[in-house]
Amino acid sequence: MALIVQKYGGTSVGNIERIKVVAEKVKAAKDAGNDVVVVLSAMSGETNRMIALAKELNANPSPREMDVLLTTGEQTTIALLAMALHQLDIDAVSMTGDQIRLKTDASHSKARILDVETDNIVDNLKAGRVVVVAGFQGRCENNNITTLGRGGSDTSAVAIAAALKADECQIYTDVDGVYTTDPRVEPHARRLDSITFEEMLEMASLGAKVLQIRSVEFAGKYNVPLRVLSSFKDGGGTLISYEENKMESPVISGIAFNRDEARLTLSGVPDQPTVAAQILSPIGEANIDIDMIVQNTVGNGKTDFTFTVHRDDYQQAKELLEAVCVSLQADAVQGNNEIAKVSIVGVGMWNHPGVAKKMFDTLGQEGINIHQIATSEIKISVLVDSKYLELAVRALHKAFELATEPTEEK
Ligand code: ADP
Ligand code: ASP
Ligand code: MG
Repeated sequence: MALIVQKYGGTSVGNIERIKVVAEKVKAAKDAGNDVVVVLSAMSGETNRMIALAKELNANPSPREMDVLLTTGEQTTIALLAMALHQLDIDAVSMTGDQIRLKTDASHSKARILDVETDNIVDNLKAGRVVVVAGFQGRCENNNITTLGRGGSDTSAVAIAAALKADECQIYTDVDGVYTTDPRVEPHARRLDSITFEEMLEMASLGAKVLQIRSVEFAGKYNVPLRVLSSFKDGGGTLISYEENKMESPVISGIAFNRDEARLTLSGVPDQPTVAAQILSPIGEANIDIDMIVQNTVGNGKTDFTFTVHRDDYQQAKELLEAVCVSLQADAVQGNNEIAKVSIVGVGMWNHPGVAKKMFDTLGQEGINIHQIATSEIKISVLVDSKYLELAVRALHKAFELATEPTEEK
């Protein structure tokens, strides 16, 4: 007998028929003798629908009220699943984030989990019940409801699995595992039987939204066995593990991309100490996250400073930079919000020096211009025009032969 945490995403609970299918899957796990905790998302489209409603009233709604609003999506699905389980004669109880005392910090819309009290869940499991928990939500020390960022139910599930020391955390979604790239963009993408935490963390942080990045961080930190599976078809899915699969040992294991990038350049900045900090501090004060940064000295005591932000933050960041341009007596602000980031990821790439050249050659042959490059030991990211995103992903997938199962390295 095992303790299993199962998380079902928005598409998997998108209507009553699908909720009934989820109830059958939960019943099967329970009938097999397991203790089962289920974590749910809101019905697909529901969170977006509520965000749009709020924006009809106010372009910048109160973050506190926004979280009160958005958490209702998950409260709906947990009650419905509990009812569907009752129909199958399974004893089940639904619980909000507050009822399981999932404590977070106070940053509305992107709160971090501090603690999960397990007593309430454990008591109900001991009484033979399935516990159905609302994902994506918690409560902060000011007694306010908080949410964990888009896709946050993945993180709720992993945090609950860690707190309960569950035997496995299963993330059920609309794909049957983690693929070499998003199968919606590259139909030849191949499902991976396993992927290391390190690679999954990199894939998630570079835009592969199959798992929220914090859920992978959490699973790695607390050593939670994590598996991505399909709600719609049977199969073993993808195990995220510490074990490097020596059989596969690929140089590149996947391609991630992010469509939401925007790029800003402040040119002709005086090349002197503290300038970088002066440019970025108003951006940081406005709570705008910065991604890639490049500073390039062009001579004459001047330098160009470029960075990327989320596309939603582009206008605000540009206005802030225009003020900095005046105060630093720089030359100009340039911006582009029609760019995307494409990244190749693989723990095996650090000792294969030809990887970057192959990536740039491949993009060059397709006539795709690279605006910016960033590298680490296990990834290379490039910025390209948005219109070339799909082409770039498919060309790289082909060039690195990701559709084919790698053979054992000699
Ligand atoms: P859920 O609602 O179940 O949380 P998400 O939409 O958040 O589901 O995540 C699943 C989606 O992630 C898939 O439908 C797929 O389009 C996308 N995705 C992006 N990159 C990958 C990848 N490398 N492997 C699998 N799916 C991916
Ligand atoms: N409902 C939330 C969202 O759409 C959380 C989740 O689905 O994980 O982002
Ligand atoms: Mg998700």
